[in-house]
Order: sequence, then C-alpha cells, then structure tokens
Amino acid sequence: MKTIGLLGGMSWESTVGYYRAINEGVKKKLGGLHSAKIAMYSVDFEPIEKLQHQGDWEGTARILSEAAQNIQSAGADVLLICTNTMHKVAPQIEKAIKIPLLHIADATAEVLVDKGIKTVGLLGTAFTMEKDFYKGRLIEKYGLNVQIPNGEDRKIVHKIIYEELCLGKIQSDSKNEYLRIIDMLANQGSEAVILGCTEIGMLISQGDTKVKLLDTTAIHAEKAVEYSL
Ligand code: GLU
Repeated sequence: MKTIGLLGGMSWESTVGYYRAINEGVKKKLGGLHSAKIAMYSVDFEPIEKLQHQGDWEGTARILSEAAQNIQSAGADVLLICTNTMHKVAPQIEKAIKIPLLHIADATAEVLVDKGIKTVGLLGTAFTMEKDFYKGRLIEKYGLNVQIPNGEDRKIVHKIIYEELCLGKIQSDSKNEYLRIIDMLANQGSEAVILGCTEIGMLISQGDTKVKLLDTTAIHAEKAVEYSL
C-alpha cells in the first residue's frame, strides 16, 4: 500500500471528509482492520484565506509548497491538495516536490468523460468558478463545456462557502439557495453539476436533487485509494 499525502486544513471541516472517505475506501477494498497509510499536514487557514482575497497567490504558494515538502519528507508517495481553490497554485507546488500530484480537476474530469457527460455546471469559490486554472483545464484538456452561475449567484455561492461551510455551519436557507442554483444550471443545459469546493458535500448530497452531482471530495478521495492500492 502506498502512503497518501494530504495537504489539508482548507478548511479542516472538509479535510475530515477526506480522512474518513480514504479510510473507508481502503477498508472496503481490503477488509479486516486495514486502514489507509496517510501523511497529513494541516495548515492554519486564516492567513491563507487573507492572502487569497488580497490576490497574493505567490504568498499562498510559498506556504503550501513548504507544507508539501514536509509531507514528502514524512514518506508520502503521492500528494493531494484537499481543496479545489488552492489548485490555483498547483504548478508551483508540483515544482517544489518530487512525488506526483493527483489533481482534483483531472480526477473529476475523468469521471465526466467516463459517463459521457459533455456539458457540466461548476459550483465553487469565485476563484474556482471565474479563474482559468480549473475551468480552463476542464475545457482545454477534456473538451468539456463548463457552465457557471450568473454574477449574483456566484456571490451567494462564494459567501456561503467562506462564511458558513468553512466554519462548519449548515443552514437550510443556504441549502435551498444551492438547490435553486443547481436547478438553474440544469435548465441551462448542464447534464451534471460539479460540487467544485470540498465543503459543498456537507450541505448538499445526491438525495437532495435529481440533477447528477459530482462531489469533488469523494471523487478525489476515491482516486487516492485507487492509487494507494
Ligand atoms: N475547500 C474549498 C475548495 O475546495 C474552499 C476553501 C479554499 O479556499 O481553499 O475550494
């Protein structure tokens, strides 16, 4: 079994989900008392969130590259960055380490391609929905059509992530807003919607809607289990 490196803490609420999903995945495949070999480094999210909103991505890259090197030194064979947003600096992090990075957008796109889905909605932070590092990768590398909510709804999605989900707050009115936005994307032609923020699965699950959902935390964790075994 290979050791999975987790760069977590962004937020820790969603890293808990990774830890559980990866261990459950290994248990399901190997049975008995088997559990995953994991080397985790969990950062303090507050300064990272400040740097993100100031646009100082190089500052975040420095912190995360150092954390990734520590994970490598702890014996990890592969690295997962446990957030969609911080894949913005994945190229810098990849350069700082020798072990491979399992990119969350690649793991998600592979599921979409496998299912024959061509047009997909994307929910996440404003950075993930608006900047090119994520959407661009889905479009250019996998030929997908990516739809995002309108400006006002993007603000709602972003605010709920930082002011509620990353703090572990689950509110029914926010859930209804997300479900409304998911329906809107489906009505615009999305065959499925990517929950492209690792906390959204805490608020919405497949049982809440008929629209096909892709939970990036679950997909990324499953990919790590596959790699490890
Ligand atoms: N966990 C979130 C994501 O998947 C947002 C927190 C962050 O900014 O990293 O994008």
